[in-house]
Amino acid sequence: MLVYKFGGTSVGSVINMNHVKDIITADNEQKIVVLSAMSGTTNALVEISGLMEQGKTNQAIEQIRQLNESYNATVYDLLQNEDPRKAVSAYVNRSFKLVLDLVNEPFTQTINNTVLATGELLSTYMFSRLLQQEGINAVLLPALEFMRIDRSHEPDNFYIQQNLTRLLEATPDADMYITQGFICLDAEGQITNLQRGGSDYTATILGAAVQAKEVQIWTDIDGFHNNDPRYVNDTQALSHLSYDEAAELAYFGAKILHPQTVMPVRSLDIPLRLKNTMAPEAHGTLITNQVNGEGIKAIAAKDGITAIKIKSVRMLLAHGFLKKVFEIFERYETSIDMITTSEIAVSLTIDDTTNLEAITAELQEFATVEVDDYMSIVCLVGHHIIYHPDTPELFQVLQDVNVRMIAYGGSNNNISLLVNTSDKLESLQKLQRYVFEKSMVKM
Ligand code: ADP
Ligand code: ASP
Ligand code: MG
Repeated sequence: MLVYKFGGTSVGSVINMNHVKDIITADNEQKIVVLSAMSGTTNALVEISGLMEQGKTNQAIEQIRQLNESYNATVYDLLQNEDPRKAVSAYVNRSFKLVLDLVNEPFTQTINNTVLATGELLSTYMFSRLLQQEGINAVLLPALEFMRIDRSHEPDNFYIQQNLTRLLEATPDADMYITQGFICLDAEGQITNLQRGGSDYTATILGAAVQAKEVQIWTDIDGFHNNDPRYVNDTQALSHLSYDEAAELAYFGAKILHPQTVMPVRSLDIPLRLKNTMAPEAHGTLITNQVNGEGIKAIAAKDGITAIKIKSVRMLLAHGFLKKVFEIFERYETSIDMITTSEIAVSLTIDDTTNLEAITAELQEFATVEVDDYMSIVCLVGHHIIYHPDTPELFQVLQDVNVRMIAYGGSNNNISLLVNTSDKLESLQKLQRYVFEKSMVKM
């Protein structure tokens, strides 16, 4: 079995949906095809849900109506035969009626998650009817019948495997199975999701559940690039990455992969391949346990970071001080990304500020606390980069950028720099020139 995942742009238009159809029918291998919502849809649904939360009922209704209309137009272009066209239109209208009905209910997190799930439910329904119209034996598997996370928000792998296997065995002769990325149930059986961009994670969770031969993530770019193409020119696609390298880059902001994507396939050694729906002939990036090359391979950046400096009120960091600090973060289930210490202070970063106020209050019982937000982590990744002769010179490149913290040596494969988000662009561009173009950078 193979698992293929197609992202928002890949299913974002009738033309692209037809590209996807060609890609998945190019061979006779049985596959599970995970789809995102059409591009723009989840953002529109987030906005609608926000209006509902703020009680802006009329605006919410108007936006639901507009989205419904744009889907009707897409359905008309997608399907030529009258019967499937009618069936899909009815499904689309029913889905938006369900959202409309929620506008007048008291807003809850479950309502938010129900609204957000509409995008994947629509794309998979439309796409599976397109395949069926063409005589392809494709079965639509409802993700909410097998995708579940547990109380710690981790995939409930046993439940997923049992239920997915049961569904697959009910139609063993299907050529392919279509299912929704992103959406799942929580431990209470309420609808939730794997966070934005979560369809990648769905794909590898399913790949692990069926012990797939390979998981392929099809997107709008020809693989993992050595820097963020949204901010830096002339980035290059990498043909290979190791699981560790890809996991670090995804965790530290490379948007091409949801941060958790690599985990499920790494332990089972299932190859993960990134491919371009718009250029299927391009090699893409193959991610396996194999390590190629030394030195800096790629750079990524993660925004929305908050730095916290905790100064012991005593002159020296007393024995047990760090333990007390970590215990507070642990109690509030807030993970720490970077950490540095000096004789009297510890600085660390977090990206989840939900409990920041409570954490600060507890820290202030034995320390002074300074909080800085709008920070970004710039992360450099490569096998054994900390031993590479070029690496130390890196810091000269960033001389006029205010680097607030450096994590060097925490692992052999990662160097992280904390900068103000306003300096991120300059840092990424300078590093790109220094690391990959090797031209002299003005210092
Ligand atoms: P999809 O909708 O297919 O999931 P995403 O928008 O989530 O696609 O991810 C693909 C996008 O990620 C690319 O178009 C690119 O702009 C962005 N991106 C950020 N960093 C990288 C990187 N290092 N390599 C490739 N793409 C990246
Ligand atoms: N549709 C969801 C999002 O936009 C999930 C995904 O695309 O992976 O975040
Ligand atoms: Mg994505």
